[in-house]
Amino acid sequence: MSHAPSPAPAVTAHTLPSYLQADNLGPWGIYLQQVDRVTPYLGHLSRWVETLKRPKRALIVDVPIELDNGTVAHFEGYRVQHNTSRGPGKGGVRFHQDVTLSEVMALSAWMSVKNAAVNVPYGGAKGGIRVDPKKLSMGELERMTRRYTSEIGIIIGPTKDIPAPDVNTNEQVMAWMMDTYSMNSGSTATGVVTGKPVDLGGSLGRREATGRGVFTVGVEAANHIGLEIKGARIAVQGFGNVGGIAGKLFAEAGARVVAVQDHGGTIVREAGLDVPALLAHVRETGSVAGFPGAEKVADDTFWGVPCDILIPAALEGQITAANAGRIQARMVIEGANGPTTPEADDILHERNVLVLPDVIANAGGVTVSYFEWVQDFSSFFWSEDEINARLVRIMKEAFGAVWNVAQDNKVSLRTATFIVACKRILHAREMRGLYP
Ligand code: GLU
Repeated sequence: MSHAPSPAPAVTAHTLPSYLQADNLGPWGIYLQQVDRVTPYLGHLSRWVETLKRPKRALIVDVPIELDNGTVAHFEGYRVQHNTSRGPGKGGVRFHQDVTLSEVMALSAWMSVKNAAVNVPYGGAKGGIRVDPKKLSMGELERMTRRYTSEIGIIIGPTKDIPAPDVNTNEQVMAWMMDTYSMNSGSTATGVVTGKPVDLGGSLGRREATGRGVFTVGVEAANHIGLEIKGARIAVQGFGNVGGIAGKLFAEAGARVVAVQDHGGTIVREAGLDVPALLAHVRETGSVAGFPGAEKVADDTFWGVPCDILIPAALEGQITAANAGRIQARMVIEGANGPTTPEADDILHERNVLVLPDVIANAGGVTVSYFEWVQDFSSFFWSEDEINARLVRIMKEAFGAVWNVAQDNKVSLRTATFIVACKRILHAREMRGLYP
């Protein structure tokens, strides 16, 4: 007796596997919504839009290390290459207890958009390990970094995918990654990561680059809306490499940093905080908590603090429907990746608060990463003035182009940045064609 084969389930080219579908609350779901918003503006390139909804490649690795107490711990690590149509993958690596595959997928996709927005010749990638690095000793951190680098070594490389620092990773972590990759491949490959120490093929100005970019686009946008930087009140969430530097540059330009929040708490000072002293305090104690001369307030009051410019420079999902209505600022500059949920974006838009989106506002870091990579390839290093001048030129030009697209199409700066970037990515995709 023969059985007629049961009909195969219908498969359409557009059915996304479950792990790629929107988890509306999570970063990947937010990213997919952003792609949907841009699709009507892509013209004939919308034929390729599905490309943006699927990472090209996602690697999950087990990272076992021996702890100092002799036991073996396993961490889960990821490297996702979202798109490589315009060049090798590029994007940071974060160590954080909340890292998930879907978060890294979204962060890798935002790198594709960011790199295309400032027109550096990269695709987008991101990596991470789910770990609280504050609980590791220096030796454990080094062993974990090296094992992770070895595991993702099959897909990274100076012409394939170039990691960099992100949340809780720094120059030392990049030095270990560079060394591990180099030892495994048999020759010193400085161009495999960026954000390295200056003595090891790093670039002058890289550490400050993201904050400098935040400041640069902030000043440009302020000019457009007639907001005077001198005397402007600034509130900053996250006072590390991004928020700390941006705060310093705004203060040097005559603004007042009136509120700062980080993982240790929230401090305010209406007359303006002494930013260099606060940076030194954070370097010594690890957080803004206990800074002399500032008033400590409840964390939730941060969002309603009277200010002109708000700079979220910590993690995703901070500005939500629950606090967007209380924000006093005229302008939000996204130093972090993905700090504003789509509902909050809409609330801010209705309330006439200008949002400078992550994909352009924090692109200064990867822009100087690009300079670092170019310097490593040519073994010829530039002066800091040259680097800063080139950074400012790229940021201003990219922001100006996005501003015009937003005006012409009457869309938000986020959608405008997506229009510029996605057109570049999908044009490259179309020109390259499908192969094999
Ligand atoms: N982690 C940074 C970002 O999110 C920098 C990435 C890079 O330099 O490759 O943009």
